Amino acid sequence: MKIREIKIGKVSIPLKKPFKTALRQVNSAEDIVVKVIADSGEIGFGNAPPTAVITGDSQDSIIGAIRDTIGPKLIGMEVDHLEGIMTVLDTSMLHNQSAKAALDIAVYDLFGKRYGLPLYKLLGGYRSEMTTDLTISLNGPEEMVRDSLEAIAAGYTALKIKVGNDAALDIQRVQAIREAVGPDILIRLDANQGWTPKEAVRTIRRFEDRGIGIELIEQPVKAHDFHGLKYVTQQVETDIMADESAFGTYEVFQLLAMEACDLINIKLMKAGGLHNAVKIADMAATMGIRCMMGCMLESKIGITAAASLAAGKQIIVKSDLDAAVLLAEDPVVGGVSFDKDRIILPDAPGLGITDIKGWQEVR
Ligand SMILES: [Mg+2]
Repeated sequence: MKIREIKIGKVSIPLKKPFKTALRQVNSAEDIVVKVIADSGEIGFGNAPPTAVITGDSQDSIIGAIRDTIGPKLIGMEVDHLEGIMTVLDTSMLHNQSAKAALDIAVYDLFGKRYGLPLYKLLGGYRSEMTTDLTISLNGPEEMVRDSLEAIAAGYTALKIKVGNDAALDIQRVQAIREAVGPDILIRLDANQGWTPKEAVRTIRRFEDRGIGIELIEQPVKAHDFHGLKYVTQQVETDIMADESAFGTYEVFQLLAMEACDLINIKLMKAGGLHNAVKIADMAATMGIRCMMGCMLESKIGITAAASLAAGKQIIVKSDLDAAVLLAEDPVVGGVSFDKDRIILPDAPGLGITDIKGWQEVR
């Protein structure tokens, strides 16, 4: 099975409500969707959401990287020659992780189809389903309480609360949510780099002193501040997770060597796809550092790929794969299915995706 052609397109999917973090606000999910077409006619699907504030990749840079630089090098390559394809992806140009991830996902999809196996089994097959949390956007305390109660009514048992734009208000927000949802719901916080190291320690200690019960806190400090992250990890009892800091394989290697965090949030768009995400999971497993599988605001293609890896690897013990649930429509036919907070992997080969509705080709 050889790669015959690569087509690039877009989908735009409205959100149920605006998505707000300490870094940005968006009202719709814009996703670049690639089709890697084999000489057998089979199609591998991949995607890359332009999340410039986190990855540095814009819509135009993703399209340009795939169309002009990386894509042409893959034409004619054997899908069986997976490591060869991944080497081309890694060495064709520096950075551009999202573009590489889109192609990587599509090639893994084809590889699964080639051997008739669902991707999660190819990646280890440790479990066939998982639960996800639901993200609560950064708003006033009343609105966040309302959104949290709605999430619980819909069947979620873990909430990921966005904080980080005002430490004093963050404490109010989280305390109000804890009081409203009761003691049994898991609450994890994501500060999205919003605090200084000392501010993070002060704020997290206040959560601890008040007995609010926080499962973990994601990315309290700036992405580049590995020493600050380590300082926070050492100064508080609560588990600290690296997200924006844990970008690619090299950054994760450094964080693990420094013992700078308690957990790693793996995302395909940071890692540059499944091939590197596997390396990250394996490095973390070697050091006994548990992982969460995360995502960007993206279509169910990337969510299915991420869920396949999370299902494959024992060390990926948590999932934050709610993007598809935040969308008002689902253009992806096939892939993972959702039942309340459960994500169920498909048994069809590859990603189990057969079509993308509303896909508009870009030339
Ligand atoms: Mg995060």
